[in-house]
Amino acid sequence: MSDSFDGNVLAAKSFAHFGVTHMFGVVGIPVTSLATRAVQFGIRFIAFHNEQSAGYAASAYGYLTGRPGLLLTVSAPGCVHGLAGLSNAMINTWPMVMISGSSDQKDAGRGDFQELDQIEAVKPFSKFSVKAKDIKEIPSCVARVLDHAISGRPGGCYFDLPTDVLHQTITESEAEKLFTEVEKGRIFEQTKAPPNSEIEKAVSVLRKAERPLIVFGKGAAYARAEGELRKFVERTGIPFLPTPMGKGLVNDNHGLAASAARSLAIGKCDVALVVGARLNWLLHFGESPKWDKDVKFILVDVCEEEIKLRKPHLGLVGDAKKVLEMINKEIKDDPFCLGKSHPWVEAVSKKAKDNVSKMEAQLAKDVVPFNFLTPMRIIRDAILGLGSPAPVVVSEGANTMDVGRSVLVQTEPRTRLDAGTWGTMGVGLGYCIAAAVANPDRLVVAVEGDSGFGFSAMEVETLVRYKLPVVVIVFNNGGVYGGDRRSPEEVTGPFKDDPAPTSFVPGAAYHTVMEAFGGKGYLVETPDELKSALSESFSAKKPTVINVTIDPFAGAESGRMQHKN
Ligand code: ADP
Repeated sequence: MSDSFDGNVLAAKSFAHFGVTHMFGVVGIPVTSLATRAVQFGIRFIAFHNEQSAGYAASAYGYLTGRPGLLLTVSAPGCVHGLAGLSNAMINTWPMVMISGSSDQKDAGRGDFQELDQIEAVKPFSKFSVKAKDIKEIPSCVARVLDHAISGRPGGCYFDLPTDVLHQTITESEAEKLFTEVEKGRIFEQTKAPPNSEIEKAVSVLRKAERPLIVFGKGAAYARAEGELRKFVERTGIPFLPTPMGKGLVNDNHGLAASAARSLAIGKCDVALVVGARLNWLLHFGESPKWDKDVKFILVDVCEEEIKLRKPHLGLVGDAKKVLEMINKEIKDDPFCLGKSHPWVEAVSKKAKDNVSKMEAQLAKDVVPFNFLTPMRIIRDAILGLGSPAPVVVSEGANTMDVGRSVLVQTEPRTRLDAGTWGTMGVGLGYCIAAAVANPDRLVVAVEGDSGFGFSAMEVETLVRYKLPVVVIVFNNGGVYGGDRRSPEEVTGPFKDDPAPTSFVPGAAYHTVMEAFGGKGYLVETPDELKSALSESFSAKKPTVINVTIDPFAGAESGRMQHKN
């Protein structure tokens, strides 16, 4: 029939119908037509070189927009490469949907082209998965994966599209009927909130605290809780500590910021209100000796299991924005504010000021050949010089990320993307692309090590192809952690003349990788060269790689995680 179309068209139509506007992926058998049709229905398809990067992009897109990020892959190998992104979404609790084509259902178990039981393969890395076994199931499957990805604790979901289903056909009127049925059956989740009695208890504990602290993380950023957080901090005068990706929810330059007095703040606080951040390794499991053994935690998290796992003094299950709104309302009836002269606030702010001035003294030096601090200071100042809207900063690498976290200043929410909960290296270019398409008004600046950059360097071509305003600054110290740090006893055996496992080709011309595709490349070795490259590239807003030569022996092996290596 003339008005009939196939499963590829119906899938593309369904994603557009249920509100998808962007898709990341790598095309090939059997999903090329799905991508082409998606574009036809108004979805921007960003075609990558590798599903791993496309998957990282989809996960970050979900975090930045609050809508599921979509990854499209081919069957078996594409799906397996995509698991990197899917697992990244799960571990960071970001909404994402991976859609993979799969082999013909009738040939299952007979060694079909790119055959894999993909539903089984994605199980450990997803919170929900579904296969469309017939073309008629496509619209309902699409609605279900999208809804599951954002419901409760956000995470990764998977949608399997067998080749035979993609080749089945359906008429326009049949498809419309399916959309109507699915719309009718959809149940939208209410924003979760705890009972008022729990809010009263929480406020009473905070009121009685002598040394309270508020800690917030990327769950609060995802919830867009910044307005309520700022209100809470201003009203109560309680010092705050953001996790790395919580930075910017309240301006890092705020007088109550405790980041520069982190050890004192977490070591001495008696009550900690933790919003959208897990008490995992990043927060020392909430245990002594880093925390006081008697500290009372009040945890705010959308996930009840998370709260049960941590056994806090008090747990408030709900959306961070909603819970803070309730807390602020409860405080308003009987306001309290510690005030600047409160001994705890004074102690935290004095320690923070002392540490900042020590750090500034180090940063003020122009060290050449570059250490990590000198170029980071120059980059910080150039970024701050841009004002608002602040760029999205993408950061990865051991020393580069560690130093960047303490030196770079976040003034606006969701403007920092880094290696996250798993400490994943290789996220850089994918995150840059996601940030650029999710925030078209913001510049994207990646500050990454040469090792981190190498994982996805070919995606610089993607930046050029889609004309994305991304400046990638590569801290090039010639390897993973930099120079060869082996002791003479370690350099023995038949392959002793091979380069160290940590070494790359010294002086690699990473900027020429960008030039190869028509983007702009800079090689810089001095403060003036770096300043000029930043100034030019920040105003050009075009795909750029700035290759910064760093002393191979600056920094430390494993960054600040040496005890684990
Ligand atoms: P960070 O790395 O910044 O410390 P984590 O990823 O460890 O943050 O923790 C984020 C937490 O936020 C997760 O436990 C997740 O369940 C929670 N979360 C996600 N969405 C929301 C939301 N809307 N409101 C409250 N908590 C949320």
